[in-house]
Amino acid sequence: MKALVFHGPGRKSWDDVPDPKILQPTDVIVKMDATTICGTDLHILKGDVPAVEPGRILGHEGVGTITEIGSAVTTLDVGDQVILSCISACGKCGFCKHGVHSHCLGTEGASGIGWIFGHLIDGTQAEFVRVPYAETSVYKLPTGVTAEQGVVLSDILPTGHEIGVRYGHVKPGDVVAVVGAGPVGLATIATSGLYGPSRVIAIDVDANRVEQAKAFGATDGVVSSDSDWKEQVIAMTDGLGVDVAIEAVGIGQTFQMCLDIVRPAGNVANVGVHGAPVQFPLQDLWISNINVSMGLVNTDTLGVLLALVAQGRIDPDIFVSHRFALGDIIEAYDVFGRAAETKALKVVLQA
Ligand code: NAD
Ligand code: ZN
Repeated sequence: MKALVFHGPGRKSWDDVPDPKILQPTDVIVKMDATTICGTDLHILKGDVPAVEPGRILGHEGVGTITEIGSAVTTLDVGDQVILSCISACGKCGFCKHGVHSHCLGTEGASGIGWIFGHLIDGTQAEFVRVPYAETSVYKLPTGVTAEQGVVLSDILPTGHEIGVRYGHVKPGDVVAVVGAGPVGLATIATSGLYGPSRVIAIDVDANRVEQAKAFGATDGVVSSDSDWKEQVIAMTDGLGVDVAIEAVGIGQTFQMCLDIVRPAGNVANVGVHGAPVQFPLQDLWISNINVSMGLVNTDTLGVLLALVAQGRIDPDIFVSHRFALGDIIEAYDVFGRAAETKALKVVLQA
């Protein structure tokens, strides 16, 4: 089969590789119908994620059709079309039983890390994929939801919802600010609407992204290169600051921006993946009673979000900016990697 193989920092190619085989009785093999590229894949290619070894097939999102099932699999069948969660969960360990699938103690990849596709085991940017712990890690695609729509549920919608909105305790009437309006920030904006905030403020350096965020449910936007960006945000509250500030970029500067606009007793939810140490001025903040959260997505709300997509309560189509054939993935990486120029959000690759 063909797959997108990582050959060390800065190097990738669309290679001929052996077809995956069932290794455990709980595995299935899927033929990929649709997959996509994540900002995290770009981090890997920069060399920011050293755990990814050369030879690894990248990708952790996608929808596929089952072609083979392991001997222990009883609730899935050949021909089922399924969404692959970016988190592989054994469903049996202590963390899985508590819904913390991101720290699954199963021995695939590394015990204690649920994100293994395209990281510690071969991923989804391929014609075929071995899916471990299939019964507890995939979701059948309901009729009416397309493979392309399903792709948005593998990672970005659950991430925005769980690590942004739920960890940020968004509740009715809240003023919510989301710093960073990339795919993950937009997923945060879209799912915050489920909890009835009075205002959702999209903040980004890119004025185009700020404008785009309105289609996802942002009521207001602020361009963070404006010298008075902070005053603009505060003016959208009762003067005391936002109830919830969500960081969806992954740099110290944007985490600090969240601290600058949150009100005392508010919530700061960090979603971004940080590659460098971040200042945390506890000496100034202890008196503010703010709650700070962070985490790796669990995808424990993937099923709920899928139901909302199926009911038309969340529109997954607006996340998709570009479409490619799977074999054109190198071109798709180029377009996705120049998002500021190409205005790329999610690029979907169809088999
Ligand atoms: P992205 O790079 O596509 O989007 C980031 C956005 O931030 C862009 O719109 C950019 O213009 C904006 N930005 C950059 N610098 C800024 C600044 N100084 N001020 C304001 N805006 C700025 O990224 P994405 O795919 O949307 O992902 C966002 C973050 O979420 C990444 O760090 C990613 O690794 C992380 N992530 C976390 C999890 C998790 O489980 N916690 C899961 C998936 C992704
Ligand atoms: Zn587990």
